[in-house]
Amino acid sequence: VFELNYAILDGLNKEQKQAVLHTEGATVIFAGAGTGKTLTICKRIAFLIAEKKVHPKQIIAITFTNKAAREMKERVEKLTGLTSADIWISTFHSACAKILRRYATKLGYTSNFTILDKSDQLKAIGIVVKSMDIEQETLRQLSLDKDIERAKNQLILPPAYPIKNNLDMVTASIYAKYQEYLFKHNLMDFNDLLFLCVLLFHKMPDVLEYYQNQLRYVFVDEYQDTNYAQFLFTKMLAQKSNNICVVGDDDQSIYSWRGADIRNILEFNKHFPHTKTILLEQNYRSTQTILNAANAVIANNKTRQRKALRTQNEIGHKIQFNRYSDNYAESEDIVNTVRSLQKAELLTYNDFAVLYRFNFMSRSVETTLTAAKIPYRILNGLRYWDRKEVKDLMAYLRILNNPLDDISILRVLNVPKRRIGEITQNKLEQLAQSQNTDLWSILKNIEQYMEFRQTAPNIRMFVNLIEELQYFNKQNRSVEKLVQTVVKKSNYLSDFTNQEEREERHGNLIELAKVGAEYDTSNPEGDLNDFINKMTLIQDQSEDTNNDDAVSLTTIHSAKGLEFTNVFVIGMDDSFPSHNRQSVFELEEERRLCYVALTRAKKRLFLSMVMPHPYKNPSPFINEIPSEFIVFRDKKSDEFETHTLDPHQRNIPFTFDDFLSMFNNDPPNDQGKSIKNLPRSINNNSSDYCDEDDLDFASSFLQKALEE
Ligand code: ATP
Ligand code: MG
Repeated sequence: VFELNYAILDGLNKEQKQAVLHTEGATVIFAGAGTGKTLTICKRIAFLIAEKKVHPKQIIAITFTNKAAREMKERVEKLTGLTSADIWISTFHSACAKILRRYATKLGYTSNFTILDKSDQLKAIGIVVKSMDIEQETLRQLSLDKDIERAKNQLILPPAYPIKNNLDMVTASIYAKYQEYLFKHNLMDFNDLLFLCVLLFHKMPDVLEYYQNQLRYVFVDEYQDTNYAQFLFTKMLAQKSNNICVVGDDDQSIYSWRGADIRNILEFNKHFPHTKTILLEQNYRSTQTILNAANAVIANNKTRQRKALRTQNEIGHKIQFNRYSDNYAESEDIVNTVRSLQKAELLTYNDFAVLYRFNFMSRSVETTLTAAKIPYRILNGLRYWDRKEVKDLMAYLRILNNPLDDISILRVLNVPKRRIGEITQNKLEQLAQSQNTDLWSILKNIEQYMEFRQTAPNIRMFVNLIEELQYFNKQNRSVEKLVQTVVKKSNYLSDFTNQEEREERHGNLIELAKVGAEYDTSNPEGDLNDFINKMTLIQDQSEDTNNDDAVSLTTIHSAKGLEFTNVFVIGMDDSFPSHNRQSVFELEEERRLCYVALTRAKKRLFLSMVMPHPYKNPSPFINEIPSEFIVFRDKKSDEFETHTLDPHQRNIPFTFDDFLSMFNNDPPNDQGKSIKNLPRSINNNSSDYCDEDDLDFASSFLQKALEE
């Protein structure tokens, strides 16, 4: 039957070919990591178009992340020579958004609805809750956004919200009000996209039929991570043609905390008649060593479908498990390894990825890569210094250091919420402008201004907080303690009611305290101002993210489906499995996450942890790797070269007039380089801040300016 000679099939193994050629009817490809599931989908799409003359517009392929969708597009483009605009390859959310843009009017929305991101969604819930007069104590016990998300993923409308106790009743009523609010304002949250799309299909059979007729071939990658709404969405789309092909791996199911249901793939054949199941057993990605190690780890999960998984690739290098004295030693060694492998094997930065369990872990690696001038990109997330809570906390520190910094004041005046709304803030700004003064001077004397009668007590609270913190800063030189105190005294985390979000943000702030601690130790003479300057410079240098050739930094969750020649997995200590995921079910999900991490690597795998006080143990998953595949090393920083940051940030306390006069009397385009005219009349208390070095720096700065 397979005698046909199609170029597209070149290089595929027998099972993969089978999957490509079985174009009609339901197909499930069920196989371990790196067996070519995604590749097979791409080939099958190309085959349909090139050989079966299926019109590209009749195909839809769905995956989970934008990056995965992009990669799939590129592969299909290469295989078919078509531009991706012709083929509908997208994430679930953008597929649904596209459908809703067209048909939202059928549900009473208009087509220009706005999609709320997570933080806007929380704001909207906040607005609704405020209008409802609910006791604080009750609110504290709810996890609204999570429960509402779960309801939507389960396609439960507000009236059907299951009520087992009083709290559920409150949640149900908030859910109802929230949904009404969204509807009235023509807004959709992320979960609405799927939720409303399925409702649309359900209520409007003609719309569904339109898509069923148009999209004759449906593909879903990473099917093991679909939740109920996603399952139903695909099922409805494919019901008529029965041409559906899903691929997945139960061992890589890592989103059950978001409602993913592994049964969707395990019981696929119950929902689609005459399903053809294809198993792929050959891994093409990893060395034998890496694959065997990953197989050994995942074998400890009890609830899984056993799968054969082998590779004909080389045995390869042993996995390294490295222990370092601190985060810097760890990231310095990563940088050195990147550099030396790059040289020895002619690799690009794209050949390297650093993976971690939690977002906050990226920080020290980011800093060191920046110092070493190695470009990096963060997949599916923000760079450490761009994260909201880090920026907010830095704004507090800036105010303590320099209360004239209006921008920082405006950033956190109402963060966490102190009932100082936008209108008040605008009025304050206008007042400052009309009086030609700064915000802080006004805030300090707020009771003098009648127009702020109502908010004055709230503003006073803010001023008191800042003054208290300033006092603390004078008494203590420790930046670490200052960060901790700001978090605590400002009650910063109180805005985040969702536990997961709170933990994540808290993690980043603990990390900031750690940055402070490192600074304290290495700069015994340092002060807040110097700390802020150094950190600002670091952020500035790591600007470059659009680089085509860059090291990838990513959480393990966002690395799903991707592969890299060399992979570093940091933070492999006993916080993985996460401490608050201890039930057998959760433990197995953490192990799957570990499996996903290990199987991203093609050639080399470096696992690592740092061993500060108090003593930490390696992740128990490390012990599950047979000793023949792994070597253990304790690495001390004097064993490798280090890159230290040397930001040339100085204080030059000239007044702005001083600054201007430098140029007024001595325009830059004037060829005479009269450095001698540099004003030496620096501010009165300059001796505290400015030494000869600073002046030298100032003159070399000026020199440069003149030369340009
Ligand atoms: P994951 O479970 O991690 O998503 P996957 O099963 O989707 O993995 P792919 O990403 O499609 O696997 O393929 C893994 C690697 O193996 C890719 O680099 C792919 O090009 C290569 N590969 C797949 N099949 C073959 C083959 N028959 N011959 C050579 N290389 C192959
Ligand atoms: Mg894949």
